[in-house]
Amino acid sequence: MTRPVAVWWVKRDARLADNACLSEVNRLGMDVLPLFCFEPSLLAADDTSDMHVHAQWQAVTGLRMALRTHGADLVVAHGEVVDKLAKLHARVPFTHLFCHEEVGNDITFRRDRAVAAWCREQGVEYREFPQSSVKRGGVNRDRLQRWWQSRIVDVPPLPVPLIRQADELRRLAATTTFPKLAAFTPIRQWQPVSEADAHATLADFLTRRGRWYRGGISSPNTAFTAGSRLSVHLAWGTITARQVWHAVARRLAELDLADPASVRWRQSLEAFVSRLHWRDHFTQRLESEPELEFQSVHPCYRDVPYANDERLHTAWREGRTGYPLVDAVMRCLNFRMRAMAVSFACHVLHLDWRLIHPHMAGVFRDYDPGIHLSQLQMQAGVVGWNAIRVYNPAKQLADWDADCRFVKRWLPELNPLPAVRIVNGDNLPGYPPPVVPFAERAKQMTDALYAIRKSAVAKAATAAVYLKHGSRKKEPTVRPKRAKKPAKPTTPSLFAGWDTDGSAG
Ligand SMILES: Cc1cc2nc3c(=O)[nH]c(=O)nc-3n(C[C@H](O)[C@H](O)[C@H](O)COP(=O)(O)OP(=O)(O)OC[C@H]3O[C@@H](n4cnc5c(N)ncnc54)[C@H](O)[C@@H]3O)c2cc1C
Repeated sequence: MTRPVAVWWVKRDARLADNACLSEVNRLGMDVLPLFCFEPSLLAADDTSDMHVHAQWQAVTGLRMALRTHGADLVVAHGEVVDKLAKLHARVPFTHLFCHEEVGNDITFRRDRAVAAWCREQGVEYREFPQSSVKRGGVNRDRLQRWWQSRIVDVPPLPVPLIRQADELRRLAATTTFPKLAAFTPIRQWQPVSEADAHATLADFLTRRGRWYRGGISSPNTAFTAGSRLSVHLAWGTITARQVWHAVARRLAELDLADPASVRWRQSLEAFVSRLHWRDHFTQRLESEPELEFQSVHPCYRDVPYANDERLHTAWREGRTGYPLVDAVMRCLNFRMRAMAVSFACHVLHLDWRLIHPHMAGVFRDYDPGIHLSQLQMQAGVVGWNAIRVYNPAKQLADWDADCRFVKRWLPELNPLPAVRIVNGDNLPGYPPPVVPFAERAKQMTDALYAIRKSAVAKAATAAVYLKHGSRKKEPTVRPKRAKKPAKPTTPSLFAGWDTDGSAG
């Protein structure tokens, strides 16, 4: 090998474009050796499921194919990362190890530290690059918006750089194969995850489906097409928020606001961009306080009196609670209405958010610990300042699925019954009666939560927690001004909703 070698440790970043690791290797004029590791400790974690492993396997397979078109390949390993790095280093004395920052669970947090320590011992230069506006180690919340501005808005996505890899490295990488993991039973609805799929999904959303985003994402019948469906790609890093933001900005700039259809497009795309903000807003919480995987963000809600009845937990997991919309959502998996699923579990079934966490994480192909844990806590009402939301599944059913299209699709046992009967909650033959009475149980839990909220000690703690983790009002210094009637929007308004509480799921 004539050039020094840098290893790009692939994690949740299986893409060639907007890739700071590859760009830096190119800038330094080095050879790159990408390495992906299936890690037994992560595979065995209680918040890992087949769906995640399958998603990552697909993403890495796509990455390998893309690298091959650039005359390069990637090493696939099965083992703990430090062991694999040590073995690789013995064969290829690489001088640099680059990766993207990941806001993961406690296992990945400790693993990242172990890798950094190993690099220090070996004299390998270790560098982590951000791939979102989340500030490593925590941030003064007042400055969060500026990080978004400087990392997402002001910097265009990086192009695919020149990828150099000596033949010797390519031959070595090509001999590595995917481990034989337990057989998957992929379901047709599982979204494919790769860089090419990510861009196709984004293009389809921006030119066709996105028009119906605003309003369309609330109903389970329309959310499937009205939503961007980018979460799996953002979660596994086959696309970045920066790439998405800039694509939306270009699309907004193209809109002809004289055309009434454009107004709807603009409203929808602005609503969508708010959610992209929420992503980093919520992820920052876990980054700033990794303990949030195990304890509520607000100290006074750490002993909420959950009953954790295993019978109810099983009924919820299996979609047999006797509440049709809840059961359909639980059986449908990987869909919206997650807020209702959590609210019902915590407020009505009295299950601890920590108890339901692994199952919820497992059924979402887009599992992203930062968003997930923050949202779980918010929907469980243990954050301390957000409204405590109890979704009434009967009302939600009447509002969003009055003809029971969604419910019948996922609960075939209800197919023979008329929708009106299901919506009225009559005694439904072949379907279980409600496992608990909704109103009474919801009242018990909300009374308990409000009692905590009203206590002097909780009020005092709320201020400090809010200061650390709460969202802020928009900052005029970075918010682009929108003219009253712009002929053509020169600076797209992409900041709407920064100060919302991101409660929709
Ligand atoms: C209890 C609960 C758990 C959740 N867990 C996850 C998770 O593990 N991974 C995940 O990506 N999303 C999670 N969400 C947020 C949301 O449900 C999904 O992002 C969304 O349904 C994915 O569909 P989409 O890509 O079409 O979203 P869109 O509505 O098109 O949103 C675009 C992107 O914005 C982000 N986003 C959207 N809604 C939220 C939100 N409420 N909070 C933070 N970011 C958001 C996501 O990255 C999403 O892909 C969770 C929500 C709740 C209530």
